[in-house]
Amino acid sequence: MIKFNAYRVARTLTTAALLTAGWLWPISIAASKQTYPSPEIKLSADKISNGRVLLLQVDAAGLSSPITNMQVDFNKTSYRFYPHPMQGNGSFFALVGVPYRTRPGAQKLIFKYSDLTGNQSRQLSFNVVMGEYRTDVLKVDSRRVDPNKKDRNRANREHQEVKHIYASASPARLWEGPFVLPVENDISSSFGNRRVFNGKLKSYHNGLDFRSPVGTPVRATNSGIVRVAKNLFYSGNAVIIDHGTEIFSIYAHLSKLKVKAGQRISKGQLLGLTGATGRVSGPHLHWGIKIKGIAVSPLQFVETLNDLLQR
Ligand SMILES: [Zn+2]
Repeated sequence: MIKFNAYRVARTLTTAALLTAGWLWPISIAASKQTYPSPEIKLSADKISNGRVLLLQVDAAGLSSPITNMQVDFNKTSYRFYPHPMQGNGSFFALVGVPYRTRPGAQKLIFKYSDLTGNQSRQLSFNVVMGEYRTDVLKVDSRRVDPNKKDRNRANREHQEVKHIYASASPARLWEGPFVLPVENDISSSFGNRRVFNGKLKSYHNGLDFRSPVGTPVRATNSGIVRVAKNLFYSGNAVIIDHGTEIFSIYAHLSKLKVKAGQRISKGQLLGLTGATGRVSGPHLHWGIKIKGIAVSPLQFVETLNDLLQR
């Protein structure tokens, strides 16, 4: 956990030089313009692998000047802050997705807010390191590697539809307490693995696969609203849940759907049964987590959110 300095350096200091008896004495004079203490901000890590989530926590309680319009910008995406689930007024959190294709090296977040003196912004530095991801070689139905025009059009349409959903998250926090795993089966393929389909299509794994036999009940990782419950070209029968605060969970390749789009669901509720629909090499559950449309490691997400709840 890193803390950034609690007080903004007063930027209105002026320096005057006074020449006395041949000596140069630098004298600092504080200008009369008032400055306000800035909120304390903590980052969950100063070094993080690509494809993971960063948690930001802001403590603005007790500041003499109210703080408004807080946001954090990273990689051309702006993320909002939400009231901290465990703390009182004046504490906030934001989740920032570090995309899988982020270049390793020094990176910056821009933290913006307004106080009584106007708009403020601060840079927060962190490092992205290349995750240690493996390679999966998979054999799937050739129609889902070389789709015909009709299938390509369908997949593009579905891609746009889902993208729109990720851009329109519920602003209210619908989740409560820790996120739980959707099934109890072993993991068969981790998030981030490089993937080669049928010896040619190269991609990466944007979720986590569980080795679930067909018909295993799949449960909601947390409460929220079902935004998608239908068959998609690549994901097969899929459910997407909006948990609010930019968090979405995805459940793919199901044999049966047990919920409908628009339905409010609670943590642990049955969503469907596992299967082998869509682009698969066999039955399994694909489970994904997206932060404002950016895929992050589901297990690292669960750990990070649980840290937020420890406070
Ligand atoms: Zn998968």
